[in-house]
Amino acid sequence: MINEELTFKKFGYYSNTAKPKYNARVMANCEDCGTLREAPLVGYRPLCLSCSHKNFRGYNKILTREFLMENYVMNGKSLAEVSRQVGCDDSIVRRALISFDIHVRNYKEAWDIQTPGKSFERVQKIRTSGKQRPNTFEKKCLEYLDNLHPGEFTYTGDGALLINRHSADAYAKKLNTIVLFNGCYWHLKAKKLRITENNKRLIEKKEAEPFKRADYKVIFIWDDEIDKLLERGKNAKN
Ligand SMILES: [Zn+2]
Repeated sequence: MINEELTFKKFGYYSNTAKPKYNARVMANCEDCGTLREAPLVGYRPLCLSCSHKNFRGYNKILTREFLMENYVMNGKSLAEVSRQVGCDDSIVRRALISFDIHVRNYKEAWDIQTPGKSFERVQKIRTSGKQRPNTFEKKCLEYLDNLHPGEFTYTGDGALLINRHSADAYAKKLNTIVLFNGCYWHLKAKKLRITENNKRLIEKKEAEPFKRADYKVIFIWDDEIDKLLERGKNAKN
């Protein structure tokens, strides 16, 4: 609890009059152990460091990896929503996410998840400007995927699906799988990389990361391989 009298004595303002001052500090008693300490007013936390640490240990039965994966990653709930659901401080949820190596979304990413409609419009605008989507290569990829798993994959290359701020080209819900259609020009040559298997794997590793972080399987289809893949698929069928 903020000790207004001591705050005024030390800093010359009361907490409610200091609001525009972002570096304002206050004197406050920890609501658990009662220790008097100096604390920042913006992002004020009712518990002292050692109590919030103790508190964290108390919450680790609820804040399991599975719980966070389901609520924070899959359902896209915000940090504040999850902490409200559990009934603890934001910082405890944040610390739990970090301890499980789950990516903590920044403000922009969180916004993308909370307002998918707007992101969709924005990305779609960029991606469809002057271009026919799906293009010839993308159509071939979709044909290949449909031969592989009939009816499972949906085209999302128009920006319909954003995961960790990255757009996927196709998605199969049942298979929990994302597909990225990569053109050698943009994904290798434009980055001054030669078209080799090694370089492809390098790019794949980097590009799959945001989707893997959200626990999706990721498949890549390269435009210099799609004809071969389609051919092979047809031969296997006959
Ligand atoms: Zn305390």
